[in-house]
Amino acid sequence: MRYTDFQGTKVSKLCLGNMRFPMDDSGQPYFDKACAIVDASLERGITYFDTAYTYLNGKGEEIFRRALVERHPRDSFQITSKLPTWLIETKDAVIPKFEEQLGRCGVDYFDFFLVHDIERGWYDNLEKADIFPTLAKEKEKGRIRHLGASFHCSPVLLRDCLEKWGQYIEFVQLQLNYLDWDYINTKALYEIADEFGKTVVVMEPLRGGTLSRMPSAEGRKILDAASTEHGLSYTDFAFGWLESLPRVGWILSGMAEPEQVYQNTDFFSREEGLTAAEIDAAYAAGKAMSKEVFVPCTKCNYCADCPSGIKISKIFSAYNEACAKDFVYLWGDLKKIYKDIGPNANDCVHCGNCEKRCPQHIPIPDMLKKIDEKYNSL
Ligand code: SF4
Ligand code: SF4
Repeated sequence: MRYTDFQGTKVSKLCLGNMRFPMDDSGQPYFDKACAIVDASLERGITYFDTAYTYLNGKGEEIFRRALVERHPRDSFQITSKLPTWLIETKDAVIPKFEEQLGRCGVDYFDFFLVHDIERGWYDNLEKADIFPTLAKEKEKGRIRHLGASFHCSPVLLRDCLEKWGQYIEFVQLQLNYLDWDYINTKALYEIADEFGKTVVVMEPLRGGTLSRMPSAEGRKILDAASTEHGLSYTDFAFGWLESLPRVGWILSGMAEPEQVYQNTDFFSREEGLTAAEIDAAYAAGKAMSKEVFVPCTKCNYCADCPSGIKISKIFSAYNEACAKDFVYLWGDLKKIYKDIGPNANDCVHCGNCEKRCPQHIPIPDMLKKIDEKYNSL
């Protein structure tokens, strides 16, 4: 395993997130399987174990207590959780929630603790509940060793947050991978983190596993050609590309079985990362994939005046997200999400307005039809 030195703490470059631990029909994570994944991770040199208040239907912290904390010496791992920002609306709500999280994890301090999923919908809670200064006091008391924040937001909001609260934020957690870099411009988020001198922790390095399969034929061709020298897997390219970004400290992977731990840690057991040519190949594969597999909508909304009221960019955006997760969606019923957006391909009157306006030249009515068929087939 290769490691990062973060302010004197040795953190494995690849880390285990438990968001995708297998669950039984009643929504409980399997204890035996969780133990096997945790044990394989420790065996392969992983030090950092990531969960959150809401993971696994609220059982993520507890399963780490049982599978990790109660079965292994406290100094053999770092445990990380995240405060559910959207549930914290008043100052007096911070500490009870934090203490509940310590209790659920069975620890008296978190090695790393994050303010979870900062985005527009609950951004004001940071101020209203005085979240960062309150958690900073917990850091002073030693109940948090390192404080960070995770983001699913626009570059504008990230900048705003770092300008306002950056003094408390030691590291930021961002969705980064070689596809999203240009495709949804996560490069802009990375550059802001860099400008503020923050270490970046990566989530969704494989885009929900999609990059391990590389669904684009052209993308596969590029990676297969580049892998001849070192026999790299598609997963290796995704991890290696991220590792080449100088601000990246460590990479989270939501591994769901021990075999996956063995496969994913292979790359980090090698002496070195990717060569410059291999890094370029990963980037080129992402470019090819973005042309082939998803709807290349940039959400400019030039097409917003549809006479049938079809929210075109919203449908494309939901579809892209579902594709990225291979239609294995974690937070809700996919068909319902699609239906809730409103009118769809069946309401299109083929006026042609949208296609004329689309700077990406997307064949919009055809694409809407294809998407409708896909959702109906689920
Ligand atoms: S072609 Fe269909 S989707 Fe496009 S603007 Fe007209 S009605 Fe709306
Ligand atoms: S005009 Fe094209 S790129 Fe812009 S939101 Fe509509 S579909 Fe997307």
